[in-house]
Amino acid sequence: MSHTTRDPYEEAKKELKQAVEILGLSDEVYEILSVPERITRVSIPVKMDDGSIKVFTGWRSQHNSALGPYKGGVRYHPDVHEHEVIALSMWMTWKNSLAQLPYGGGKGGIKVDPHKLSPGELERLSRKYFEMISKVVGIDEDIPAPDVYTNPQTMAWYMDEFSRLKGFHAFGVVTGKPLILGGLQTRVISTGHGTAVVAAEAAKKVLGGIEGKTVAIQGFGNAGQFAAKSLSEMGAIIVAVSDSKGGIFNSKGLNVDKLIDVKLKTGSVVNYSDVEKKIGTKDPLYLDVDVLIPAALENQITVENADQVKAKVIAEAANGPTTPDGEEILTKKGIVVVPDILANAGGVIVSHIEWVNNRMGGWLKEEEVKARLEEKMTNSFNAVWDFWQNKLDTSKYNMRTAAYALAVKRVYDAMKLRGRI
Ligand code: NAD
Repeated sequence: MSHTTRDPYEEAKKELKQAVEILGLSDEVYEILSVPERITRVSIPVKMDDGSIKVFTGWRSQHNSALGPYKGGVRYHPDVHEHEVIALSMWMTWKNSLAQLPYGGGKGGIKVDPHKLSPGELERLSRKYFEMISKVVGIDEDIPAPDVYTNPQTMAWYMDEFSRLKGFHAFGVVTGKPLILGGLQTRVISTGHGTAVVAAEAAKKVLGGIEGKTVAIQGFGNAGQFAAKSLSEMGAIIVAVSDSKGGIFNSKGLNVDKLIDVKLKTGSVVNYSDVEKKIGTKDPLYLDVDVLIPAALENQITVENADQVKAKVIAEAANGPTTPDGEEILTKKGIVVVPDILANAGGVIVSHIEWVNNRMGGWLKEEEVKARLEEKMTNSFNAVWDFWQNKLDTSKYNMRTAAYALAVKRVYDAMKLRGRI
């Protein structure tokens, strides 16, 4: 969302408006939900290695807390701006609601290019940011996590800083932590595996199952790799993948374990040898496959190229890979799109398990985590599918609309029960 001229907040409000209208809710409900409950903006002074002081701008947007404490990542990026952070926090409200997690939506960001900072500068920036937002976050208030260009190390600094300020060990104040500090192994595979689970559920409905079906994947990072691995373990044939350097195709299927190895060792899938042909970064989008997984960037399927998409099912591992005008074309073509707020919720679902585990002093067995993730993803998919098929006019509305409506409805119900409206 950061590399676009569209205003993500305006788009998020449009999606909300449509959901409110479908549900027949009042304008007041739209008014409440179209703005964050609180937005904190901080100016973060950081002592640089050369002794000078630089001031960075950071935000924490807390959109809605009807379902529980705010939850969502923090991104470090030079293009981060207030509207982006607000939109992302609103999307987190819907994502958490859809996954039936006891969380509202939050998101944070710092306008910075972290690659230009030394490790020491990055640590000082991270600790100071967390200190400055420490009054509005907390184990039962708001629980940040990694997002673009933040990672388990960033979470370790946040957790340590918060614990130091409060005088106790606050493991549950952030998720996505290193394993030794209460993180979970399954977090690494969670997003990609979750996407694979919903892609398989959609394939069951639309194609009669996932076994033997062909899959193309755009983007081969964390989400793309584990979606590929899980889908191939389910019996699907991964025929094409791409990353930022190019793509590869083999109609008989690619060996995913070998491919991950090549990507890790050489930096790109283009160096994998057993291929029929090399393809471009965008080509997976246009192949005649059963399932397409966009797992790279936003705004990939647009009004300009949606008519070239031939897949029957799309499961969005990436955030915002399909633009609204692009999706209109896909809907007309009868392509089923499992939307991002449903298809990439695996990360926050496992984050929730990490938070529960931290509160229980590290009680859960890692084996239980994957089963819970699968159960949640399957239940979420089926809830949205049933709502779409049974409560909406399927000739007029797609699965994304159904997902938004269901998510907004749950938040509305919680606000009503709490007496907030
Ligand atoms: P990542 O940085 O690990 O991987 C991104 C991949 O996309 C890389 O392989 C990169 O080479 C590739 N890529 C970049 N530009 C490309 C292009 N033009 N064409 C084809 N490939 C290109 O990132 P990730 O964590 O896998 O995230 C990917 C998407 O999934 C993002 O939209 C992210 O917001 C979303 N997502 C990720 C998670 C998670 O837990 N990892 C959770 C929710 C959503």
